[in-house]
Amino acid sequence: MMPLTFQRALDLEHATGLAATAGHRLLGGGTNLVDLMRKGVDQVGALVDVSALSNQITQTPAGGLLIGAATKNSHLAADPLVRSRYPMLSRALLAGASAQIRNMATVGGNLLQRTRCLYFQDAAASRCNKREAGSGCDAIGGFNRYHAVIGASSACIASHPSDMCVALAALDALVHVANRSGARTIALVDFHRLPGQRPDLETLLEPGDVIVAVELPPPPFAGPSAYRKVRDRASYAFALVSVAAGLEMHGDVIRSIRIAFGGVAAKPWRALRAEALLQGGPATRAHFERAFDAEFADAAPPAGAAYKLALARNTMIATLITLSGSAP
Ligand code: SF4
Repeated sequence: MMPLTFQRALDLEHATGLAATAGHRLLGGGTNLVDLMRKGVDQVGALVDVSALSNQITQTPAGGLLIGAATKNSHLAADPLVRSRYPMLSRALLAGASAQIRNMATVGGNLLQRTRCLYFQDAAASRCNKREAGSGCDAIGGFNRYHAVIGASSACIASHPSDMCVALAALDALVHVANRSGARTIALVDFHRLPGQRPDLETLLEPGDVIVAVELPPPPFAGPSAYRKVRDRASYAFALVSVAAGLEMHGDVIRSIRIAFGGVAAKPWRALRAEALLQGGPATRAHFERAFDAEFADAAPPAGAAYKLALARNTMIATLITLSGSAP
């Protein structure tokens, strides 16, 4: 048994002070970190409960929303403004986990949830560079059906598990962070890192940082949106592949479009190449196919996950055909 201390941060100033103390780890709803502690994957000696941070959803002067980091996933999914103005986000949240977990999980914690790579979770018997730098990666050449198809490295091929973050990537969300020295903002698409040779570094957070809020700018498209998730069973399963997409048409031409993928990389994968090709062009199947192929031109899936490329392609094309109302 490992000794463990537990403190409750009273406010943001208290939280940033405790976060700056070596060895202290922040706890939101505990739906991922506590599991990893029980499995011996994450060795934590001092927990700081940050559930007293803001759990409010407020409108910004720019016309967007500011979502406190302690907001529960279920509360965010049910918020009337989120449902009416950012339905893609509400659907992504409801596609994740179970109702019980969504009632506990927080927005800040969701940003920091860790890969479900089976070898990462198996601290007793598997090699994992993310857990222990330089130890090796048993997923490469092993069971890698759930792993990344793009942006991986020779050190790690894990995929990111979040649904919420995929929608946030498509919606140009910003992450507000604070520490004892001040505050800063990180674009969600930059917040998570690709593994390179340091898969243990998963985000741009620095020691002592506290996630304060997520900001949604006004919706970047005035049209329909969707979150489509493909998984092994109908509920309580992580995405094999997911697509968050929204667009705005002007006649037969795509005026504005956002696309992000889940389950394909170590981070939510914003499809900037595909968006650039599609914007200003016709909403046709052939155009969608070219855009996908350009986006994933650098894909290098491990053998077990090669099927994901066809799955992601078909899912994106079907989603865009539905949203644009174009002929299948
Ligand atoms: Fe660890 Fe990444 Fe390899 Fe999984 S894919 S075993 S997380 S290094």
